[in-house]
Amino acid sequence: MRYDVIEAASRVRDIIFPVFTNGTRIDDDCLSLLDRSRNVIPIFSLEGDAAKTDVRRGEGVYAAVQKAMSRLQEKGILFGVSITVTTENMQAVTDPSYISNLRNMGCGLAFFVEYVPVSEQTEHLALDKEDLAELGNAVSALRGDMSDMVILSFPGDEEAMGGCLASGRGFFHINSVGGAEPCPFSPYAKYNLKSCSVLDVLQSGYFAELREIAKNADTHNGGCTLFQERNKVATLYAG
Ligand code: SF4
Repeated sequence: MRYDVIEAASRVRDIIFPVFTNGTRIDDDCLSLLDRSRNVIPIFSLEGDAAKTDVRRGEGVYAAVQKAMSRLQEKGILFGVSITVTTENMQAVTDPSYISNLRNMGCGLAFFVEYVPVSEQTEHLALDKEDLAELGNAVSALRGDMSDMVILSFPGDEEAMGGCLASGRGFFHINSVGGAEPCPFSPYAKYNLKSCSVLDVLQSGYFAELREIAKNADTHNGGCTLFQERNKVATLYAG
């Protein structure tokens, strides 16, 4: 929807920009830009098969993604997928046949994004400790079998990186109105990039305290630390 942002990113050729998309806007112009600018890598959001993807993202979205993938493959353009993993689709999306099918279509990257509830009515979709262990094993097996693909699990892989990477420890998130959020999964923007710099945000007391909350949280169990500590985060945000 913000083609101007994609064009700006395409000009910064020494930085890789993964662009997460539902795939419905890969038209001829976009395809030509992606062909010229290999630093911009489309990442298609999928929920599993056609039925599961269309239920969440709208009728016909899966077919649009298939079409876009096939056009990218014809031109040899690298692309990836981002799959939200829930208790309802975990078995299907970690099945080797599902991922190898994507690989055969030209997909080179797969992000498994564990469902992080930001509303309490959807907590049943979040993976519990047993599910997370199962997902970890499935991802390791996929990495072994498909070594020509990059396969990442988020936030599960954070455990190996010492826990929560939000609030500038590893990254932060700028939302569509310029708000500086600790993470897309923790949408508490106290500062806006329209009125302060990236450095101001990174050096702010707010982000420092958020990093402390994450550091002092209970052992990282593969879920989202700032969601577990959401009451403290909300109090800090309101303060
Ligand atoms: S806020 Fe949650 S998802 Fe974001 S980096 Fe921290 S643990 Fe990971």
